[in-house]
Amino acid sequence: MKTEIPITRPLFDDREIEALAQVIRSGWVTQGPKVAEFEKAVSDYTGARYAVATTSWSTAMFLAMHIKGIGPGDEVILPSFTCVATANAIRATGAMPVFVDMDRRTFNLDPNLIEPAITPRTKAVMAVHYYGMAADMDAINAVARRHNLWVFEDAAVALGASYQGKKVGNLGAPTGFSFHGRKIITTGDGGMLTTNDEELAARARIVRSHGVSVSDFARHQAKGALIQDYVELGYNFRMTDLQGAVGVEQMKKLPLILSRRQALAARYDEMLAEMPEVETPYVPPGYEHSYQTYLVWLTPKCRVSLEDILKATAARGVSCRHSIICHTQPFYRKLCGELRLPVTEEAARRTLALPLYPQMTEEEQNYVVATLKDVLVGGTR
Ligand SMILES: *Cc1c(COP(=O)(O)O)cnc(C)c1O
Repeated sequence: MKTEIPITRPLFDDREIEALAQVIRSGWVTQGPKVAEFEKAVSDYTGARYAVATTSWSTAMFLAMHIKGIGPGDEVILPSFTCVATANAIRATGAMPVFVDMDRRTFNLDPNLIEPAITPRTKAVMAVHYYGMAADMDAINAVARRHNLWVFEDAAVALGASYQGKKVGNLGAPTGFSFHGRKIITTGDGGMLTTNDEELAARARIVRSHGVSVSDFARHQAKGALIQDYVELGYNFRMTDLQGAVGVEQMKKLPLILSRRQALAARYDEMLAEMPEVETPYVPPGYEHSYQTYLVWLTPKCRVSLEDILKATAARGVSCRHSIICHTQPFYRKLCGELRLPVTEEAARRTLALPLYPQMTEEEQNYVVATLKDVLVGGTR
């Protein structure tokens, strides 16, 4: 049989299937007790006082920014080396994303570049904990405090990561997680806002559900007459109980998922150490990486182009990936104008994501490394 190694895959078994079946049998599949249980699991795990489930990271973060008053005329500083959704959520509020360059070792926003990007319109910084490692929040929060800016955290891929002994989700700012199929845990699609801000959490619950003062489930359960008010403009960003039930099961597996990802990442580090064509990821002291993505730099010793590597590995059944950057996408080039972010642009050309998933076997990983050696070294002989 031909080897097929995907970039990642979710860790599902019969428990998710049974949890789904139970929700279906219960007769109530829209937001209800399972979502509440999933929210409590994420709040307990991260240590954040409140967790509000939504349909995606994008809607969770839109809610947080919208409720904090980010809107037209405002600017929000963010790294360009991130998923385009990070910039889109900012733009959806009407605010203007302002892209800055990254730190080449951590793949995260370079905190020194925030201050030069600040204008009288700057309202917030969106820190991204990219590929599963926290951004340097002490440095980012210090700049934000000096300039009176809101901070938001994009933890779409960083569930389980920690920074200076604290879990991402409880580092201080409103934080968004994603449960898309390629993230640490998945509910198909889905998201969660975590915060210690009681008012933000309460309003997020209202705005995610059409602006109504009484939850869907409370209405469903009510016996007799129930008065509800629509107190502000709302949307439908509700996670369903079908997703909530899967999320509860996925949270139980989170420690296993993280330890497998971290063990496999350490094994990649070891196996790739003697390959001068690649530089393995750097994790500074005080950081715990969730390794949603294992990303390597291609060093100047690597003479094969990223595109050729992607093609040659794919031909051997190994799914590697390149990273997109935001500021060169046609939509943002038009909106923000031409920008030069040299490290970000180099990372787009010279970084490679390797397959990684909790159920990956050592044989599969050996095959990935052997394929990479063949393609990177063999290709130049
Ligand atoms: C996946 C991802 C998002 C978007 O998450 P959705 O749940 O699809 O909205 C945002 N930011 C980062 C860094 C991501 O990787």
